[in-house]
Amino acid sequence: MGWTVFAPAAFGIAALSSCVGSGAAAPDPTSEAPTPQAIAVEETLSEAPVLPPPPPPPPEPVVTTFAYSGELTQGGFIRGTAPDNAAQVSLGEAQVDVADDGTFFAAFDRDSPGSLALSATLASGEIVRETLIITPRDWQIERVNVARRPGGPSAAFMARRRPELNAIGESRARQTGATGWSQDFIWPVKGRISGRFGRQRIYRGEPGSYHGGIDIAPGNGVPFVAPADGVVVLARTGFSLEGGLIIIDHGQGLNSAFLHASRIVVEEGQSVTQGQHIGNVGSTGRATGPHLHWGLKWKAARLDPLLFVGPMN
Ligand SMILES: [Zn+2]
Repeated sequence: MGWTVFAPAAFGIAALSSCVGSGAAAPDPTSEAPTPQAIAVEETLSEAPVLPPPPPPPPEPVVTTFAYSGELTQGGFIRGTAPDNAAQVSLGEAQVDVADDGTFFAAFDRDSPGSLALSATLASGEIVRETLIITPRDWQIERVNVARRPGGPSAAFMARRRPELNAIGESRARQTGATGWSQDFIWPVKGRISGRFGRQRIYRGEPGSYHGGIDIAPGNGVPFVAPADGVVVLARTGFSLEGGLIIIDHGQGLNSAFLHASRIVVEEGQSVTQGQHIGNVGSTGRATGPHLHWGLKWKAARLDPLLFVGPMN
């Protein structure tokens, strides 16, 4: 055991000494006598085999708990660091992707339960577990005294809709290794907020689907930008509801969708940086007026973009 530690150290000294020695051994025109450096090298070489092994490096402190911060509320998120040697990390039922340096992103759906387990299975098999308390939100609920549209969507509509939904689902499932998830997000465009995330109508007691993003209405044709770095995984016009649609993957399962664009200036597969112009506000697809609908998803969870960017000013 001592030998395996000692041998590389001795080799290291010898290698260094021979390097110094070759310089010191250069012919000296002023003297025949060995230079002091040469003597020092001789001594070093002769002493090398009996040098005591160097002291072992101090052990790295092992991180045994999660560290995180963020918005622990419905539609919110956390960024954090996993315990050392975490082989697998999960939040509730969802698997959490952990970067090589141990950092991760995780988020809470609009309808998240009041508590969720954040857990790591270590390489040793040990489980580190923490309960996160998720504050409920007071979602804007509108009760209307009309029945929900009877019959649902027509067969003709669904024939057109199904391939669109498939394209959106496949794009969102793409993993690009983008790192925008770790950045502080910026507003893609500023303007009047014409629809908040989470708003829901109840039709005579029957809940309709809630609003899955935030609507910003700065005016028709106004350019909007990427709120964080990412890779464009979808950029196409003509979706029946979304119209001109751009989806950007920010990595770790987090992605942004931008709807109703009048113009798209990026292509699928392209990397974009925070603040880069990606499209222009419009009213394509199903929209009552020109606005940008910005939706954020982490895996299956729908998130409130407002919590990522803070109030507009
Ligand atoms: Zn919207």
